[in-house]
Amino acid sequence: MKKVFIFLGPPGSGKGTQTSRLSDKLSIPHVDTGSLLRKNIQDNTELGKIAKGYIDKGQLVPIEVVSEVIKDRLQKDDCQNGYILDGFPRSIEQAQALKDILASLDKFTLKDDTLAIYFDIDNEVLIQRLINRRSCPKCGTIYNLISNPPKIMDYCDICDTKLTQRKDDNEQTARARFETYEKETAPLYEYFKQLGILREIKADKPISEIWEDLKQIVFEE
Ligand code: AMP
Repeated sequence: MKKVFIFLGPPGSGKGTQTSRLSDKLSIPHVDTGSLLRKNIQDNTELGKIAKGYIDKGQLVPIEVVSEVIKDRLQKDDCQNGYILDGFPRSIEQAQALKDILASLDKFTLKDDTLAIYFDIDNEVLIQRLINRRSCPKCGTIYNLISNPPKIMDYCDICDTKLTQRKDDNEQTARARFETYEKETAPLYEYFKQLGILREIKADKPISEIWEDLKQIVFEE
């Protein structure tokens, strides 16, 4: 079985939810650049100060910042048996940076150890999904007010904490994130296809069905 999984797809395509499930199932960490960057902003680090302006506008944070954050994360003990990358790489340039980072860590390669899984779904469906996305700030559970609502509106089913909405999930920033995705990230589809490591999942289905498709891909390899 492969050890490194790259989850590729537009914002809100359900990658985060499936990553958490796969991370539990395989006991490998979910490495999510968006969360790592938001943590830097919260902790008011130098990297966080640079990242904030870009995130608020729905633009990509400069590659030097993201590469530093990701390289640091992949060296941690819990990444030595594999990991799931969610939100990185996000451009051809970042894919090349990932190749260099993997070479320097000398543990896994794109060609032999990696699967890129593309979540295929229509953009307009996604914009609605993003605007209705809420998450629990305490335990991280993700909800959707329309397709996967909490039992009590606005409160987490698991720990009863009041749910929050990400600042960049408003309509204007959501649309800007899609434009960035189409321009910068969509070309990775062909890049990974040419490397022979791309697999596709239809993501306009219920979460449980996507999960079944994902397991089939991951365990068949
Ligand atoms: P996400 O949580 O993956 O939707 O990311 C939220 C925001 O963080 C994005 O809109 C970007 O501004 C920034 N970001 C996350 N991952 C990356 C990355 N790999 N490269 C550049 N910016 C990123």
